[in-house]
Amino acid sequence: MTEAQAAPHKGEFAGEAVTGIVAHARLDYTYSPGRAQSQYIHALSGRKVVGERCPSCRKVYVPPRGACPTCGVATTEQVEVGPRGTVTTFCIVNIKAKNLDIEVPYVYAHIALDGADLALHARIAGIPYDQVRMGLRVEPVWDDSSKDSRYPDHYRPTGEPDADYDTYKELI
Ligand SMILES: [Zn+2]
Repeated sequence: MTEAQAAPHKGEFAGEAVTGIVAHARLDYTYSPGRAQSQYIHALSGRKVVGERCPSCRKVYVPPRGACPTCGVATTEQVEVGPRGTVTTFCIVNIKAKNLDIEVPYVYAHIALDGADLALHARIAGIPYDQVRMGLRVEPVWDDSSKDSRYPDHYRPTGEPDADYDTYKELI
């Protein structure tokens, strides 16, 4: 008896190539955020952003994961950060997302909230997309039409002078 051998193939196919299929799929799951992230999520309901400080390296992690990934020790000291922050880096989005009512182009940025040692990401508005820059100072804008909104709808410029590069270069 001989084993089946994979036939050689040149990588060329007859007819039109299939470039995509639509497959309806759904997954229901229960997510347990744990102690640190539960506190973070509860604080967001009050429109506060709370991180946790590492007792060893003193870095403030937002969102908190319950431990410092560098030092390997538990973090328990809660620290409120923001609400203002600094754009550390950003990208201009030119592709309109399905089911998302945001006109393109728009800017998505990494934002280091004041007091945080980790940058969050969020949309920037209230400024032309081509004027967003590294160091731009921003503040959150909450969507009052949705009481369940746990995250700011976007961030907008505060009008403050840009942050000095040295103040956020470690957070890019
Ligand atoms: Zn640490």
